Amino acid sequence: MTVKKRAGTYVYEAKDPAAMAKAAKAAAKLLQQGKLVAFPTETVYGLGANAWDEKAVEKIFFAKGRPADNPLIVHISGPRQLEALADPIPAEAWLLAERFWPGPLTLVLPKKTQVPDVVTGGLKTVAVRIPRHPVALALLQEADLPLAAPSANLSGRPSPTTAEHVLTDLAGRIEAVVDGGPCEVGLESTVLDLSRETPQILRPGAVTAQEISELLGQNCVLTRWQEESGAKPPSPGLKYLHYAPQAPLYLLRGEPQRLVSGLQKEQQKWEAAGNKTGLLVSAETAPFLQSDYLLVLGSRTDPAGMAARLYDALRRFDRLGVDVILAEGYPATGVGLALMNRLQKAAGGRVIDLE
Ligand code: AMP
Ligand code: MG
Repeated sequence: MTVKKRAGTYVYEAKDPAAMAKAAKAAAKLLQQGKLVAFPTETVYGLGANAWDEKAVEKIFFAKGRPADNPLIVHISGPRQLEALADPIPAEAWLLAERFWPGPLTLVLPKKTQVPDVVTGGLKTVAVRIPRHPVALALLQEADLPLAAPSANLSGRPSPTTAEHVLTDLAGRIEAVVDGGPCEVGLESTVLDLSRETPQILRPGAVTAQEISELLGQNCVLTRWQEESGAKPPSPGLKYLHYAPQAPLYLLRGEPQRLVSGLQKEQQKWEAAGNKTGLLVSAETAPFLQSDYLLVLGSRTDPAGMAARLYDALRRFDRLGVDVILAEGYPATGVGLALMNRLQKAAGGRVIDLE
């Protein structure tokens, strides 16, 4: 196995099956020793630690600069580990697991007392999922441990969708990263809370509200919690600004025919004031705009493809050194709901509605 090192962090290549098996073995050993390893999942790269090892999990918060009350998702390889972590496990959980696992759906369930508080941010619930990326699965099996793993970025930065993104943020702060190439989904998992009276989506993702509602035979919607309400959020992660590029991002929402003129007008305004202005737009809108700092997310007909490229685009704007980013908005349906949720978070309230 070729092993590179970047600022003290091992980089294990895992791009073909043979390399994958070797990388999983080496990385599993480090995890069993209580060390931190970043690994690819189908959603984003995760920063893993043995979920039973409090000291190891504490290192995650330190490496990321993550607030201690923001709980972690525990990645598992099968039902035996689920039963070790959660109790009681409602029938809906088994139904959802059968349909969507391995895959980008996280279930929030009542936790067993043995689950360390540091994993759950002191909550009485634990968030669990089985990822479907072959490297993640190989690693979980080899380590034979549940892995607490938030996204492998510095807190507040866009989630990493390549090993390079991980190294940009965390080289020298973690033991190793397994490089399994770019992530397929590119946005964090759907988080579904099953610990309340009715199931609630705390975070939208690639598994959509419609798919969950159809399977459960009841209407599941995104939590209506709003920052301004002053109420306690159902998921601590909701209250933090997430996924933010370095430059302020303005999200323009409106009908497609208004977006072009809206973007042109805003661009003129920012450029007239001497700002390097980034444009983050669809393939349909791009031909009507001109800029040295224009990035195309993809076609409006392919929201999943746009979602997969979002975080890389945000990090590209960082490297371009733009002063401001103007982003096109999309219909918030299906995967588009998750895409718009992340764009809104990146905008941190800077939303322009075009009438
Ligand atoms: P990350 O893995 O960095 O995407 O963050 C995990 C997300 O899952 C955070 O936004 C948390 O708020 C959410 N989460 C994890 N555990 C729980 C839990 N027990 N209850 C509610 N939300 C949770
Ligand atoms: Mg995160």
